[in-house]
Amino acid sequence: MLIRKIAAAVFAVLALGGVQAVTAAPATAAPRVLYYDASQAQEFKAVVDQGAQIWNNSVTNVRLLPVTAGRTPNIRIYADNGWPRTYSSSLGNGYWYMGRQAVNQGYNPPRISAHEFGHILGLPDRRTGLCADLMSGSSAPVSCTNANPNATEARTVNNNFAGAAVAVPSQVFAWR
Ligand SMILES: [Zn+2]
Repeated sequence: MLIRKIAAAVFAVLALGGVQAVTAAPATAAPRVLYYDASQAQEFKAVVDQGAQIWNNSVTNVRLLPVTAGRTPNIRIYADNGWPRTYSSSLGNGYWYMGRQAVNQGYNPPRISAHEFGHILGLPDRRTGLCADLMSGSSAPVSCTNANPNATEARTVNNNFAGAAVAVPSQVFAWR
C-alpha cells in the first residue's frame, strides 16, 4: 500500500513536471496542422503550394499541408477574375480567392498567395506601402516580389498558434 502511494506521488510529480516543461518550451510542442484544398485553384495550384511553403519555412507553431483524401480541409482556395480576397471564419479556417485582376496587373502571384494565407493565420491588412511587409498587400508597389512575412508578422502567427486558440472574428479581406 505504501509503495502504491509512493508510486502515485512520483507519478503526480512527473505529470506536473511534464506540464511545466511544455509550458516553458512551446516551440517543442507539435505544430497545429491546417489542411488546405487547392483543387479548385485552377492555374494557381502551384502558387498556392508555394504560399503554404513560405509559411512553413517561416513559422514553427502551425503547418499548412495539402488536404488528404477523406479529410475536411480547414482552408479552400478558389480562382476567379476579381481581386484576391480572403473570407476567414475563425483562426486557421476559411477560404480565399486567387484573383486574376491583380495577377493581370502585375502583382506577384506568390506574394498574393502568402498574403492571403496570412489572413487565414490571423493577420489583418496593414497598408504600410512597404514591400518588406507581406501584409501591406497592394499598398506596396506592383513591382514588389517579396512573398515572405517580416519578423513581426511571423512572430504574430507563431503567437496566434502558441497555445489556446486565439479568438479571431470572421472577416473579409480584399486585396484592393
Ligand atoms: Zn489582404
